Amino acid sequence: MSNENNHHTTKEFADLDLSPDEFQQLGYRAVDMIAEYYRGIREVPVFPPRTSAEIARVFEENLPELGQEPGAILAEWSEKILPNATHLGSPRYFGFVNGSGTMIGALAEALAASVNMNAGAWKPAPAATEIERRTLAWIAELIGYPLECGGLFTSGGTMANFTGILAALRNTAPYNTTEEGLQSEMRRGRFLIYMSDHEGHVSISRVADLLNLGRSAVRRVPSNEDFTMDTAALEKILDEDAAQGDIPFCVVAQVGSINVGAIDPLEEIARICRERGLWFHADGACGAVGAMLPEKRHLYRGLEKADSVTLDPHKWLYIPYECGCLLVRDPEKLRRAFSMSAPYLRGALPTEYTGIDYLEYGPQMSRGFNALKLWMSLKHYGAEGYRKLLSQNVRCAEHLDRLVRESPDFEPLHRPNLFIYSFRYFPADLRLPDQQNGDGENDLNAWLDRLNQRIADEIQLSGTAFIMTSKIHGRTVLRMSICSHRTTLQDIEIVFGKLREIGEALHRRERPETLPAFPQNQA
Ligand SMILES: *Cc1c(COP(=O)(O)O)cnc(C)c1O
Repeated sequence: MSNENNHHTTKEFADLDLSPDEFQQLGYRAVDMIAEYYRGIREVPVFPPRTSAEIARVFEENLPELGQEPGAILAEWSEKILPNATHLGSPRYFGFVNGSGTMIGALAEALAASVNMNAGAWKPAPAATEIERRTLAWIAELIGYPLECGGLFTSGGTMANFTGILAALRNTAPYNTTEEGLQSEMRRGRFLIYMSDHEGHVSISRVADLLNLGRSAVRRVPSNEDFTMDTAALEKILDEDAAQGDIPFCVVAQVGSINVGAIDPLEEIARICRERGLWFHADGACGAVGAMLPEKRHLYRGLEKADSVTLDPHKWLYIPYECGCLLVRDPEKLRRAFSMSAPYLRGALPTEYTGIDYLEYGPQMSRGFNALKLWMSLKHYGAEGYRKLLSQNVRCAEHLDRLVRESPDFEPLHRPNLFIYSFRYFPADLRLPDQQNGDGENDLNAWLDRLNQRIADEIQLSGTAFIMTSKIHGRTVLRMSICSHRTTLQDIEIVFGKLREIGEALHRRERPETLPAFPQNQA
């Protein structure tokens, strides 16, 4: 082939890569934009007060048929995206259980994308695979889980719960569910999962969906006063279900629950599962990493006995989305649940150049390099730094609890266990002097529900803070998830003051006239 021909062929192929120099220029600019963003993160209005339709309009645009200038595309980040973002990195964002995103994690995302390893298998991701293994071992060590454990990173807690509970089903079912699934003639009853009724997390219903067990396969176990699972009730229900011919196979313990941060009695649940041959899955998406705090460790006794543990680095380890994690005591049980083979997945010849293929340990095949952002963040802060950050969050929740208890217009609903705290605005002038229930209780509760929802809505629209509501024993409450590495006691005070201000104004303006008043209660 002549040179000319070669030249000709190359010319026919579009080369749309940036030149490294162009990349460098754009990259500097992107980093400047990000640094500028971080500079303003403490003051940024947390939530954009716009409707979905308004924001959709910003992005109404035809499919770009012709390529555009990369500089102009970057500019759109500042012009269109940032003004319509919710700022989870703000120290006053307290919604859902959303982490704040470490800065080094943001760099890790860019670096991981640049090399673009696929952590589904060892061959396309040797370093990523070994870093994943190493980081999992570090996490296990941090929370006191057996170091020989296996596991993997997932997109989030829901997928970690799914992965753990599928492993539970595969390893406890009385026949081979890998081959026959739920359609086997050997199936003799319903496969059932157990969790606490008040604080059990809705992701377990999603797991039942994914396993096609039906949501009614998730049995709700009554809770104690402190929102933990009543294990005597658990044993009773297990006995009843087994006597009916059903097949209990997994108990899900909450390890830091969604509304109040409750930790179920793990030792007891471990014992019950061991005695009955059930799989003990700990849903620690919110709270498992709290086990690294010496002052909280006692609450986690028994966690090391769980067959599997879900935790969510994108929550209380502040890792940028997405990063969930599952640890499993016996890695072989996980492999047994997910192992697959196909001629194109592995070289035919045995070779020393292989390692763990994570596609054999979970539902995904192609996988991003999620471990890197956690690996880098752990190295950046160290275990010591992380312990400081987590205990700061706990102190914020405790401070909030104090403010609530000291205020005559707020009602505490639980002790702050970890970093999640739920409470209620309850104006003093509505409280019966002797705390007894009155005739107007329904009206009162309806107003309090509406009032608390309105407070959350207004504080969101104000941009000062992002707070959502939840329900505790059927009543609407304000719920703050304080898992930002940027939140300080001062943020808590500012937000609490704002909540009171909004509550007072709303109550003054809109209080139903039918409600009796007890002004003598006011401070
Ligand atoms: C958040 C959460 C989940 C689900 O995790 P995702 O990362 O949102 O999928 C499951 N369980 C508990 C207790 C949670 O807090």
